[in-house]
Amino acid sequence: MSYVFDESALSQEIRKRGAKRVLLQFPEGLRYFSTELVQKLSSSLPDVEFLISGEPSWGACDVAEDEANLLRVDLLVHFGHSPYTWYYPKFPTLFVRAESTLELDDETISKLKNKLEEMKVNSVALTSTVQHASLLSRIKKALTPRFKVEIGRPSSPFMNDGQVLGCDYRSAMVEADVQVNVSGGLFHALGLGLATNKPVLKLDPYTKQVEDITPQVFKIMKIRYSKIMEAMDSTTWVIVQGLKVGQNRPLMVRSLESKLKSMGKKTFVVTSKVLNQDALRNLDRSYIDVFVVTSCPRLPTDDLYSYEKPVLTPGEAKMIITNKLEPYIFPW
Ligand code: SF4
Repeated sequence: MSYVFDESALSQEIRKRGAKRVLLQFPEGLRYFSTELVQKLSSSLPDVEFLISGEPSWGACDVAEDEANLLRVDLLVHFGHSPYTWYYPKFPTLFVRAESTLELDDETISKLKNKLEEMKVNSVALTSTVQHASLLSRIKKALTPRFKVEIGRPSSPFMNDGQVLGCDYRSAMVEADVQVNVSGGLFHALGLGLATNKPVLKLDPYTKQVEDITPQVFKIMKIRYSKIMEAMDSTTWVIVQGLKVGQNRPLMVRSLESKLKSMGKKTFVVTSKVLNQDALRNLDRSYIDVFVVTSCPRLPTDDLYSYEKPVLTPGEAKMIITNKLEPYIFPW
């Protein structure tokens, strides 16, 4: 498995910026390559000091600006993501996408075609994570003209056509019978199903498998609706405000707070950098009925779904506030 780090372009950019101390930040899956990369960069930039951030970084929203300030580096290099839709760092930061070099063989494309035939669909929306963006045009070419294929415009100029994030599926909001997502794991594909309310096929470039994950999406949606129903008549809400740079959404917090108050609800705002069941339990009291998380909307759906009280996404809170239970809104 390998990724394009484009060391020579990166070295040139670091030299151009005159940086002498550089912090490198990687998502979990790419940190494995960090020491090797430092060796390569150091050979062309022997006078530059490189530091590797060992802190978790879960998304483009989570840029290590605080760490970079604390360590007094000149430049931060963030790998594996394009800039986040709703936040651009104030600290000098370079984004290196680290695209995967994996190719798709004819057999995998045939599996996809067969699956689409089986489903008797005519139109397809194609999306991917940033790592596999270059595969979309090849898939589109292979499926056309048998199927009408749409690759939607992204929500920011920093993203590729068809690119999705765990909390941003706007490039998938096109007319299509089925969503096809190119990614490893289930994270992005499940979110895609929740966001579009459409059948989802996942094409995994690592395993070369094509899987219909619609039943898994329905299962999650059922759980989400049970949380919404439980929260409908609740009185006391805790609104969680994120403290990671890209997860701090004060306007969203204010808006939820004022709408809930106007409905006669009692609200508390709690700030949080890392949210898990223990953090909720330490804060929880019998009179607290429901939590709504404005930091990362994947926490309620992926991590906190088994908490004993409803933990909602902003989209789910909106469904309650507007008293409109259909369609299911994800994530905002
Ligand atoms: S807020 Fe959550 S889903 Fe969105 S980019 Fe950050 S970690 Fe990913």
